[in-house]
Amino acid sequence: ALEIAALHKSFGATTVLSGIDLAVAPSELVFVLGPSGSGKSTMLRCCNRLEEPDSGTILLKGTPVTGAGVNLNQIRQRIGMVFQAFNLYPHLTALKNVTLALRKVRGLSRAEAEARAVEALTQVGLADKAGNHPAALSGGQQQRVAIARALALEPEVMLFDEPTSALDPELVGDVLAVMRDMKSAGMTMLVVSHEMKFAQEAADRVIFMDGGSIVEQGPPERIFGAPEHERTRAFLSRVT
Ligand code: ATP
Ligand code: MG
Repeated sequence: ALEIAALHKSFGATTVLSGIDLAVAPSELVFVLGPSGSGKSTMLRCCNRLEEPDSGTILLKGTPVTGAGVNLNQIRQRIGMVFQAFNLYPHLTALKNVTLALRKVRGLSRAEAEARAVEALTQVGLADKAGNHPAALSGGQQQRVAIARALALEPEVMLFDEPTSALDPELVGDVLAVMRDMKSAGMTMLVVSHEMKFAQEAADRVIFMDGGSIVEQGPPERIFGAPEHERTRAFLSRVT
């Protein structure tokens, strides 16, 4: 569904991605691990052009994401992204946060947008909170609204960048449960996270990145149970 090839990115003299090759299959959940600064966020951000790659190609179901002449609006609908910080509009209700993009980007009528938004909020278990402003929602609920906002645009791929890292521990489970449901529904997902237990249960494949490269990858049982590279072993022994 998503094919990243020979992706390079530097910031000034700092090389952050030095040739990433990664193909995510339809309905696959690829889980990305790696130390701070290894380029995980930059890789995700290149996939919906929040960062401009220096070279390489990214294809979404065969459609170029990189290069000139790409319709960024369309790409960002087709590739949804959820960040550590939920980035909801504080002055808008949960419902309005979800309908905004549907109205603006999709040009739906108010009634159509609201129907779709209620459906998306129901999917993340928040139909009863549609009228709440973000300040009247827990962190986990806010993150689920952010997921609903992306889902409402009917993305083909979802990118998650540490979606639970800002949450109190007791709120993490609800967000992971929503992600598990999305996986069961066949969503293609690329997930940067430190939730190793979630990786073991839900990931089809685990990628270990270090220094801007993919060092090792495989099924979760193998990466966690028998990592081959010293750098993977060292990282896992620090974080687990
Ligand atoms: P973390 O686990 O801490 O989130 P990460 O693997 O997501 O780390 P990135 O955020 O991709 O790492 O950053 C990789 C490197 O690129 C870091 O050294 C970072 O300082 C640098 N970097 C990221 N964004 C920029 C930017 N806009 N300008 C300059 N340097 C940047
Ligand atoms: Mg990051």
